[in-house]
Amino acid sequence: MKKMIGILLLLALLLSGCGSGRAVKVDVSSDTLYVKAVDNLPKDFILGMDVSSVLAEEASGVKYYNFAGEEQDLFRTLAENGVTHIRVRVWNHPYDAEGRGFGGGNNDIEKAVEIGKRATQVGMKLIVDFHYSDFWADPGKQMAPLAWKDMDIETKTEAVYDYTRDSLKQLRDAGVQVGMVQLGNETNGALCGETTWFNIQFLMAAGSKAVREVFPKALVAVHFANPENAESYASYASKLDYYNLDYDVFASSYYPYWHGTLDNLSAVLGNIAQTYGKKVMVMETSYAYTDADTDFSGNTIGAGGGVAKPYPYTVQGQANSVQSVVETVANTPGGIGVCYWEGAWISVGQNSWEENSAKWEQFGSGWASSYAAAYDPDDAGKWYGGSAVDNQAFFDADGRPLESLKLFGLLRGGNEPEITVDAIEDSELVVDLNGVIELPETVNAVMTDNSRQAVPVTWEIDEAQMKAMLESGPAKYDIVGEAGGLEAHCYVSMVEFNFLSNPGFESGEADPWIVTDLGKTEQLYVEDKATDSLSGSWHMHFWSAAPGSVAFTLEQPVEGLRSGTYQYAISIMGGDCGETDIYAYVKIDGEIVGRAPMGISGYGNWDTGRIEDIAYAEGQEITVGISVKCAGEGNGAWGKIDDAMLNSVG
Ligand code: CA
Repeated sequence: MKKMIGILLLLALLLSGCGSGRAVKVDVSSDTLYVKAVDNLPKDFILGMDVSSVLAEEASGVKYYNFAGEEQDLFRTLAENGVTHIRVRVWNHPYDAEGRGFGGGNNDIEKAVEIGKRATQVGMKLIVDFHYSDFWADPGKQMAPLAWKDMDIETKTEAVYDYTRDSLKQLRDAGVQVGMVQLGNETNGALCGETTWFNIQFLMAAGSKAVREVFPKALVAVHFANPENAESYASYASKLDYYNLDYDVFASSYYPYWHGTLDNLSAVLGNIAQTYGKKVMVMETSYAYTDADTDFSGNTIGAGGGVAKPYPYTVQGQANSVQSVVETVANTPGGIGVCYWEGAWISVGQNSWEENSAKWEQFGSGWASSYAAAYDPDDAGKWYGGSAVDNQAFFDADGRPLESLKLFGLLRGGNEPEITVDAIEDSELVVDLNGVIELPETVNAVMTDNSRQAVPVTWEIDEAQMKAMLESGPAKYDIVGEAGGLEAHCYVSMVEFNFLSNPGFESGEADPWIVTDLGKTEQLYVEDKATDSLSGSWHMHFWSAAPGSVAFTLEQPVEGLRSGTYQYAISIMGGDCGETDIYAYVKIDGEIVGRAPMGISGYGNWDTGRIEDIAYAEGQEITVGISVKCAGEGNGAWGKIDDAMLNSVG
């Protein structure tokens, strides 16, 4: 009897193990991680994770742990912490003629089947990301697989259909639960070697047809990058509509460093969702928890600026960034989910580049191996190496989960432990080479809930170093300090500072310049035309047909100057002006104290009026300007004024 019960239990377990797999209980708590609840998060909202590199990582000896410190199947750990979907990229044949992998996980359909089975075992669904290429496809390149390279569009369309259908059948036969299938990866106007929408749509339609046949319940997704270009997105959606592509989800990558604001993302995706009746989602996002590299192979995000940094590179900052993306998509019309990109692509070793490189080559655990040269000699074949995103994973270099991983399980209910200081916000300062370096006395502490609190700061710099900065010409400096027990940075740019506002009219308006027409100048306005500008795309334009009608001044009062010596310059070009009376001028307390005559001598011949040695004392009123009078000839006097500058010379 006992034996019988045992067999029945085993049968029950086997049966429950069929199909959808065993859902893992999500039971997460944290004493430290702050998570603002996302209200009304739909029950079926996709919280995805791309772990395409995992098999190559494991083959390289990487071990993953759970929060109890035990080695545990990565998929189980992700499921326990609230991840619902696993995304996997699929390349047609990422191997050279000798069968050596190109790297990046060597992700072909066999790898996807294995990853899909493990995801299914713990109740997660798979998002299949067909690149329709033998290696990385993104906005920079969309190369056809080698075997399809010379096919005409009809043959290639058939190949896409057959390949998609056969690949999906392998997943279905293995019992993998497929929730969504992508028709290409970041297909910004190119796919599989095709660069016209007329051809691309044939390939996408073929892929879509195959998905509908093999997995009728799965969602069909298209995927683009660069949502900051709203017009491009509107154009992609419109093309797909024009060609009547059968798809469900318009998905976007969203990397906060490069891809604009969340408000813009929401507006762009929401607009497409409402215009075309589609679902929308963020298919890739990620955020750095540290600026340090851990695998001896450089990262896409490190220390230093040049990218948007809405959150500090900390474990809490990473969680806050993902929370904000989820909250945004959940509140966007048609928003169904967010997928994190490569949350487990960590270092394969701590000893040396050589040791790691050997593993990247053998197991494909780096972003590319040297063997990728067979397919992509100019990029992957040249710059191959390890993980460029190990500092954006949810596991540290030893495979231990970061507290931020709990975010997925805490999003619904929120988690609000005591707010503490998480990092010090970077400061930025622009200093005139003839000015004074006044570093801030306080800096903002970034709290765990991303609020700010001012705290006193001590900068590690002395008088001699500051003097050297003033004497070394235009340059940028990273001044290190200490605030609230943490490191602070002030990025100082030493510049030849221009004290004028809107000096080249690049705001698109004249303000705060005062334009006074003293004659009957018919056209006198700021104009957007780069070829007629000295720099940038805007300038002040004038034109008048009637002889002698051009007569105006353009001037700007300047406030906030220190006592000292200054110089002023402004430039003009034009034609058909006949006899002219044109000069740059400086007024102090209403009196002209400097005047520089200028002339007009034809298109592109810019003449600069320069007034040096302007002595100014605080309290005086100073105004700079240009006065223009033209007798005119021929078809009327015309001209352009641009690039004024008032700077300190001592
Ligand atoms: Ca790295």
